[in-house]
This record gives sequence, C-alpha cells and structure tokens, in this order.
Amino acid sequence: MGSLATPVCRMCRREGVKLYLKGEKCYSRKCPFEKRPYPPGQHGQLRMQRKLSDYAVQLREKQKMRRIYGIRERQFRRYVKEAIRRPGVTGENLLQLLEMRLDNVVYRLGLSSSRAQARQFVSHGHILVNGKKVNIPSFQLRPGDTVEVAEKARSIPPLVAAVEAAGGRALPSWLEFDANEMRGRVLSVPTRDEIDTDVQESLIVEFYSR
Ligand code: SF4
Repeated sequence: MGSLATPVCRMCRREGVKLYLKGEKCYSRKCPFEKRPYPPGQHGQLRMQRKLSDYAVQLREKQKMRRIYGIRERQFRRYVKEAIRRPGVTGENLLQLLEMRLDNVVYRLGLSSSRAQARQFVSHGHILVNGKKVNIPSFQLRPGDTVEVAEKARSIPPLVAAVEAAGGRALPSWLEFDANEMRGRVLSVPTRDEIDTDVQESLIVEFYSR
C-alpha cells in the first residue's frame, strides 16, 4: 500500500486532516491525502468509522495541533499554561501564541514552503526582525514587528523557490508582505477567524483540564 505516502504524509492520513508538512507538495495534486483521506493500514477505512472515546478525540486533536506547528510536547504544555493564564478564550489564546511564533510568520508570509523549512531559515540566521538577526524559531512577534530576509540570504535557491511557489497562496489579513523587499509586517494578533488552522482548539483545552 501507499507507495506515494511518505511517513510524514501518513501522519496527515492518521489525523484525518491535511497538516501541510511537505511544502509545495501539500498544495499540489500529488498530496496523498487527496487520494486517500482515511487512516493508513489495512483496516484504515474501517478505523475511520470506529467511535472514539472523548479522551481519544481530545488526544488526537492535541497531537494534530502539535504536528501542524511542529511543537514538542514539553513546549506545547508551556503554551497551554500561558494560554490559560491570559485573559480571554484559552483555545484562541493558544492558537495566537502559536501563530505569533517567528517560524510560523515566516511560513505564513510565503518565505518558506513549510514550517519546518521556516524553522531552518530562522536558525540559519537568514531572518531579521526589526532589522536585527533573530535565530530563535519560537521567538514571539508583536504587532508592528517587521520580518525580512537578510540581504545575503535573498538569493539562496531554496528561499527563492519557496517565495516563487508561495506566490499563489493567500496572505492572511493580519500580515502585510512586500515581495520586492522580501519584507513583511505583523499588523495585529490574529483573531480565530483569521486563522485557517483546521483544529478544534477547545478539545485541546479540555484535554489539559482533565
Ligand atoms: Fe503529505 Fe502535505 Fe498532503 Fe500532508 S498535506 S499528506 S504532508 S502532501
């Protein structure tokens, strides 16, 4: 089975949703999830119909969100704690904390083909925040911050290819991007309806409030 499905793509099928982990492949017809949107394995199609317990549903949702943003469990817990501490809706706070990470914004601006690639660009020192190099992928941005590609990184082939390929992707309304300058800006903290991540964040909050 699954000759096209790399282990990463199996994760999408397992979670039952596109996690966008393979860069441009995810946006093309080559995405294996488009062909087989059910869990991998011999009984994958059967498994889809199985009724999961509340706990299992919450757990799957949490794993899904961690995989989408590429966050390790320990760090993820820290985000949940911070989301609970902040005023407002905990689930929305959690999503906002993840969205305001530097690696996520690099990806959302279309400067990389995946969040994993964005993380690499950041840790290699290719990204400047407000004109200064920041090589911490988890760096929390604030409204008004600018994010740009360092001068000498502007011609590196994976970056050029990513920017070109991402041209067709929609820019979220809370970001601004100037392709000529390879520079973006965070206009505001995104509200839930400005975040297209396909997760039910309230289930994740329930998971941690058990
Ligand atoms: Fe693979 Fe991307 Fe499709 Fe997921 S969304 S199955 S990572 S190509």
